[in-house]
Amino acid sequence: MKVLVTGGSGFIASHCLKTLLAGNHTVVTTVRSAEKGEKILAAHSEASKGQLSYVVVPDIAQEGAFDKAVISDPPFDAVLHTASPFHFRFQDPKELLDPAIHGTKGILRAIKNSAPSVKRVVITSSFAAIVNPDGHPDVYSESRWNPVTYEEGIADRAKSYRASKALAERAAWSFVEEEKPGFSLATICPPYVFGPPIHPPESQEALNTSNLGFGSLMQGGWKEKLPPTGTWLWVDVRDIALAHVRAMEIPEAAGNRFFITAGHFDMKEVAEIAKKNFPEYADKLPAELISDKPNPLYDFDNSRSREVLGLEYMPLETSVVNTIKFLQSHPL
Ligand code: NDP
Repeated sequence: MKVLVTGGSGFIASHCLKTLLAGNHTVVTTVRSAEKGEKILAAHSEASKGQLSYVVVPDIAQEGAFDKAVISDPPFDAVLHTASPFHFRFQDPKELLDPAIHGTKGILRAIKNSAPSVKRVVITSSFAAIVNPDGHPDVYSESRWNPVTYEEGIADRAKSYRASKALAERAAWSFVEEEKPGFSLATICPPYVFGPPIHPPESQEALNTSNLGFGSLMQGGWKEKLPPTGTWLWVDVRDIALAHVRAMEIPEAAGNRFFITAGHFDMKEVAEIAKKNFPEYADKLPAELISDKPNPLYDFDNSRSREVLGLEYMPLETSVVNTIKFLQSHPL
């Protein structure tokens, strides 16, 4: 298939590129600058000639941002929309909300208007669009929605990211329902995503948000106290990439949300794995490791991801060890 992937510089997107290339798909990715595009081409030397290219889309929040990017010759068969801000460095919550919501609506509109060959769109949503921190159910599954509103996302910084993801995903499903485009939609909802990045970060600050804890652990930031887990569910980035690609390839994935999680975890388990496999970090961790897992804790149902997408999840130990080894070999 010929696939457009948005935000190819991202942690998750770069693994999507790798999985797509390995599956013999032809890929065009959007990036904010030609400089980033060249770095991506260099980082994916496994691509055969002409298999990977980029187009520049400087800001997905702008009206018409994707109008040109969705047009290609030969035309696209599928689109993976992963680009969306995931950080907590924002001044104004709109820095998260606008790119997430306008970017999602914008790309769907552009595909409908100008890329009728596209048959499947896969959007990277999040557990943030599922979780309800004000009232957890007994079991989280695709049927759950975070009830957060735009106004709450603006008023409460703690809710801004979750609102950006929940409202963007709702907007995507509404678009499909109301506009009845020629493509079907699937969304991918991961919790904490760990794993080795493909593009080595240039600094501690440049490390992707969900791996920040690993950088901190290795630099002694966990010495006094483990960081709060916050979300007691995780998944490896390579499983997430596979989920995107299978959601694009498998006909039965159409019209589905997928809750993609390997299961429960907490920072105590991460610390124990680090200590066992990398004794050099033992003195960078508290002497006593204490779990912050609530009891009882909500359960999860990932059966749709296993049944429809055929996912088998990587264990936490493999993911943690791979991530730390990568960061050791690319010191920040
Ligand atoms: P990254 O920060 O690594 O990637 C985000 C990507 O979005 C980058 O390519 C970034 O470009 C691009 N981007 C952000 N804002 C804009 C904008 N205004 N205009 C153009 N491009 C923009 O994060 P992840 O890979 O972790 O996240 C990717 C997706 O996965 C997001 O949708 C995120 O919400 C979702 N997700 C991530 C989870 C995780 O734990 N990592 C968990 C659940 C969902 P640039 O690099 O140039 O800034």
